[in-house]
Order: sequence, then structure tokens, then C-alpha cells
Amino acid sequence: MSRQTKIVATIGPASREPEMLARLLAAGVDVFRLNLSHGRPEEHRVVLDHLRRLEAEAGRPIGVIADLQGLKLRIGTFRGGAITLSAGQRLRFDADPTPGDGSRVPVPHPELFAVLDPGATLLLDDGKVRLRVVETAADHVMAEVVAGMRLSDNKGLHAPGVLLPYSALTERDREHLRFALEAGCDWVALSFVQRPEDVVEARRIVGARAGIIVKIENPPAVAALDRLIELADAVMVARGDLGVEIPSEQVPGLQKRIVAAARAAGKPVGISGQMLESMVEDPVPTRAEASDVATAVFDGADALMLSGETASGRFPVDAVATMDRIIRAIESDPSYREILPAPPPPRDLAPDAVIAAAHLTARTIGAAFLATFSTAGKSALRAARQRPEMPVLALCASLSAARRLGLSYGVQPAHLPNLASEKDIIRAASRLAVERGLARNGDACVLTAGLPVGAAGTTNMMRVAWVDDGEP
Ligand code: PGA
Ligand code: MN
Repeated sequence: MSRQTKIVATIGPASREPEMLARLLAAGVDVFRLNLSHGRPEEHRVVLDHLRRLEAEAGRPIGVIADLQGLKLRIGTFRGGAITLSAGQRLRFDADPTPGDGSRVPVPHPELFAVLDPGATLLLDDGKVRLRVVETAADHVMAEVVAGMRLSDNKGLHAPGVLLPYSALTERDREHLRFALEAGCDWVALSFVQRPEDVVEARRIVGARAGIIVKIENPPAVAALDRLIELADAVMVARGDLGVEIPSEQVPGLQKRIVAAARAAGKPVGISGQMLESMVEDPVPTRAEASDVATAVFDGADALMLSGETASGRFPVDAVATMDRIIRAIESDPSYREILPAPPPPRDLAPDAVIAAAHLTARTIGAAFLATFSTAGKSALRAARQRPEMPVLALCASLSAARRLGLSYGVQPAHLPNLASEKDIIRAASRLAVERGLARNGDACVLTAGLPVGAAGTTNMMRVAWVDDGEP
């Protein structure tokens, strides 16, 4: 049985050598993520080159995400590297770049002071240090330590619930974005998006050269969720930071809501953040982590993402293999289909209805796979939206579209530029399905396309066929 829920792996020092990339791919990675918060663009380009070679060897499109750092606020440095804290202690936050001490903290984001009100919460070091703003001024704020023992250089700074007066694209992001587009990455992920305008701004630069993923990781993004999904091509529930900005007990419900909203819109949705965190150090996950991965599968996410586990952990291959095993176990569990939320109602009536009918037919006749034939892969997205039991073989005339489809539930993309007739399509689908182990000669499959073949149009045809790859 093929696995329907996809795996994204972040590449870093623990995984960027060609041999390791090949092992990760073999262990089950569907899409690779380059995290531009770390490393230099040239290093990422080397990884991308390796991945394109692996793609050619594997003979199937492999998607790559360039993840921009976005507006992650960080404090400056301290004389001595760190300060110790005690509850009730007051600290002055200002934009003076000289290293701080036990009474002041440098913050290289002077615009921040204007939007903080007394009573606001400041979270540092992923929430390990908590302060309450007691006094504000144009060029600094005074805050009182509520919890926390120690604060060291360059730690992350969150002001939960505060809409920051910045664009999601920093100067550095614009540079990284130019690099990512020029290098030919398939997806660009926007971190710390706050407003729809952030996506509009990115789209102006990206155009159709890459898909845009919005990472939902703060309350303003949650508030603008539907509009952000509408403007983007995919969504990520970025729980690492979301869980700092929002009380962690609210994250599971929010995860379900974001997955449902993205699925209703027919756009792939991924889940990230500490999925198998303990595997950074250990070869096995905790039971709680296995359960968290399972929940994300039950929720019907398209893809689950590994971060530090594959980027800098000690057991990158085991982390992927573990995630693969958990997903397969859940997808074949008798409760899975009962728990998985039902398909949303059609949006584009005719094509969605044709795809839903194709899915129903495939299920009724026990088809080995669904095959969609389209230029840009839209019909494959429609098929993924059904969360079908069988794989979706997406025959795509566009290579970049095929690469992007790797993120979608159940979709096995293929790049096939010159299919002229219905007969060609069935033959090509048969050959690929047999080659990839999705079907055997004689198996039933259900095919969708837009007729007439070759004319860009809408999905309006479904056909039941039997696998015949032409081999005796
Ligand atoms: P990050 O995003 O790994 O870039 O922080 C993912 C997350 O916050 O979950
Ligand atoms: Mn994040």
C-alpha cells in the first residue's frame, strides 16, 4: 500500500551530504525544505543541485521548499553572553546596540516600542522567559520579569497578539527570495505572515515561478486565516512558533481548524513543529510524539514536516522511517476512515463533481489508482481534496507543477509533456503505475481529463480503464 500523507524533511548540517539525501529519499521523504534562517544561500544551492541529481536518478519529480526566515524578532547580545533573572526584576528594552547587562536588553527593532502597551506580555527564548510591560516610551519599554531564570544572546522575542508594524518580508528575505527563485525552488514559505498584504507583496515578486506557502504562526495570521489561504498556494500549521504565541492547549483545536479550512479551499496543508523532537537526540520517539503524528494524520493533513530531527539531529534517517511507519499504521487502522473528516462540498461545481464521481467510482470498483491528466495539476489538487483511499497518479505537462504536487495527499506526480490522445494517457498511466508499484496489468483504474485532450480547459471527463503497459 502506498502512503498517502506526505513527509517533508528539513535539510541542515546533519543531512546535506549527497549520500544522506539519498538515504532520506529512500526512507520516504516526499518534499525537501531548505531553511534559509540558517546557512548561506550558496550552501543551499549545493543541496538543491544534489536534489536535482537525485530527482533525475529517481525518475520522478521532487519538490523543494525554500523557507524564508521572516520577521522573527531577536534580542541583541549581553556583556558576558547571558544574564540571570529573578521574578519581579525590571529590565529596560531599548534599541541601543551596545551589549546589555542585568538591567537592560538591547532590541534591534526600534519600531516595536510604539506598538507595546503597558500590560503586554513579552516572551523570550521560546517562552522560557516571560515579562510584563510596565512602562512604555517612544524609544524604550520597561518590563518586569514574571518567570525565567536566564537570558542569553540573540534569543527570539515574541509579543503575542501584537500586530507588528513590519512587512513579513525583511530585506534579508528579499535577497533570499531572489536566490530561491533564481535557483528554481518550487515553493517559497513565508514565515510570520501577519496580513493578507504580506502575501500580495510576495506574490508580486514570485509570480508563477514558485508556489507560496503561508506559515500560520501567530494570532494575526490566525485572524486572517481564510484570506491568507485564498491568496496562497499552500498552508503550514507552524506549531513551533504558534505554540509560543498562543497557549499550547489551544493549538490542537486550531490545527484541526486550519487543516479543514485549507482542505475546503483545495490547497495542501502541512503540519510542523516538534513532531518527533526527542529523535534529535534519541533513536526512538516518545509515545506522546507518536500520538501527535497520528493525530495530524487523523486530522487529514496533506504533509507532516520534520525540522531539527532531520536538519541537525543525530538520527535523521530513523526520524523519517519512524514518521513513515506511524503514518502507514494510522492509514491502515480500521478507525482511520471513520475519523478522517469527510470531503468538503464542491467549490468549482463541474470539475469538483467529476473528480468526486471518479473517486466514488474508483472506490466502488476497487481501482488501484486514480489518474488525473492536466497541464498545471489542478485536477490532482481536486482529487487530493477528496482524501482518496487510492493513490492519485498526476500526469502533468508542467514540471514545476508536478514537483509542487508532491506536497499533496496521495498524489504521485509525473512529468509527461507530450500526451496527445486518450490512448496515450492510458498507456502512460499504466506504464507509470506498474513502474512505481501502484498497480499490475489488468488492475482497474479511473482516469480524469479535460476534453478535447491538449486544449487547456477544465476537467470534464472520467473513464474507467484497465492497466495495460504494453508488456506481454
Ligand atoms: P520554523 O517554522 O521551523 O521555521 O520555525 C516551523 C514552526 O514554527 O513550526
Ligand atoms: Mn516557525
